[in-house]
Amino acid sequence: MNSSALERFLRYVTIDTRADESSASTPSTPGQLDLMRLLAAELRALGLDDVVLDEHGYLMATVAATTSKEGVPVIGFIAHVDTSPEMSGTNVRPIVHRRYAGGDIVLPDDPSTVLRTVDDPALAARIGDDIVTASGTTLLGADDKAGVAAIMAAVEHLVKRPDIAHGTVRIGFTPDEEIGRGANHFDVERFGAVCAYTLDGGGRGELEFESFSADLFTAVFKGFNTHPGYAKGRMINAIRAAADFVSSLPRTEMTPETTEDREGFVHPYDLDAGVDETRVNVLIRDFVTGELGTKRAMLEHLAREAAARHPGCGLETSVTEQYRNMREVLEQHPRVVEHAREAMRRAGIEPVERAIRGGTDGSRLSFMGLPTPNIFAGEHNFHSRVEWVSVQDMDKAVEVIVQLCRTWENQAAEI
Ligand SMILES: [Zn+2]
Repeated sequence: MNSSALERFLRYVTIDTRADESSASTPSTPGQLDLMRLLAAELRALGLDDVVLDEHGYLMATVAATTSKEGVPVIGFIAHVDTSPEMSGTNVRPIVHRRYAGGDIVLPDDPSTVLRTVDDPALAARIGDDIVTASGTTLLGADDKAGVAAIMAAVEHLVKRPDIAHGTVRIGFTPDEEIGRGANHFDVERFGAVCAYTLDGGGRGELEFESFSADLFTAVFKGFNTHPGYAKGRMINAIRAAADFVSSLPRTEMTPETTEDREGFVHPYDLDAGVDETRVNVLIRDFVTGELGTKRAMLEHLAREAAARHPGCGLETSVTEQYRNMREVLEQHPRVVEHAREAMRRAGIEPVERAIRGGTDGSRLSFMGLPTPNIFAGEHNFHSRVEWVSVQDMDKAVEVIVQLCRTWENQAAEI
């Protein structure tokens, strides 16, 4: 079991699966399908007989139950095959630094790219492990091929050890998570599990079951454009109204730059400006869904005040729901997180529970009817040339998956 997660990982990262936001197809890039086909072939070679790669590029398969108990719930494991569009994923050259001694890791294809324990406490904590990096000019793709490799290695372990009692285990590999489309075509009904776990987290023990709740607020200021030489008493400049709005937003609190942990924010991040019409997009984020409404009311009030300072200026506002804190769903299914804690303890790990200051596919899947917390796969420095993963953390993730399967079987009531 120990070497196979690494062997698989080294094979998967060489396939370029960078997602592309500008593509309308699904998956957004053909490389993702190449990896999906490889995974499908490997799952079939392991003896899984219902491997299906669907028309949207989602791969699902089943590890058959070994338990003699009836009524053991079906659980699932999910990872995404795409990598971030923010960094090249072409010709990834993984390097394994065996028994890392704690010194600087200089990446050979760009010697100015150096991993140092002083900049990276998580790396300092893994001295003695085998560390995998890229070579300096690309990301590594541990996000989320570490998760893919851990799930595949766990499947192999379960298949080769039929003496381990577990219920039916569903496997799902998804495309385009990095561009927010990973849940778009996920068929929850066909997946058929009571819950799932994404393997897409950082250091050993990480367990995430809380994300932001998120809305998008849009204010469109409507002015009136005329030739500026003959504009006296006629022109209404929507840019000025929008600028007044942006400058009236909180700046010493409630911004991404001034908040952390469990604090929410409002964040103007996109603006399309013209005299006749100016649109401002503002992200609203909070862990408490009810607080989104309070922040929205504040934004509406400030936008109205800004428009009123420019007589004749019109204003239209709208709010689009983006995603919700998955805790709201997971609280109604407490076993899902409790069994994850139990599985980690059985693997000798103390769970590290953290709220995600963002969303995951799991946030959306949870509200689509599949409660899905996130557990670690050993990924660090996502979307970066200094991305790295510890081989021993990946092996621990494999162990946690196997222990999760056992825990769900053990804890199921005998019917
Ligand atoms: Zn990821």
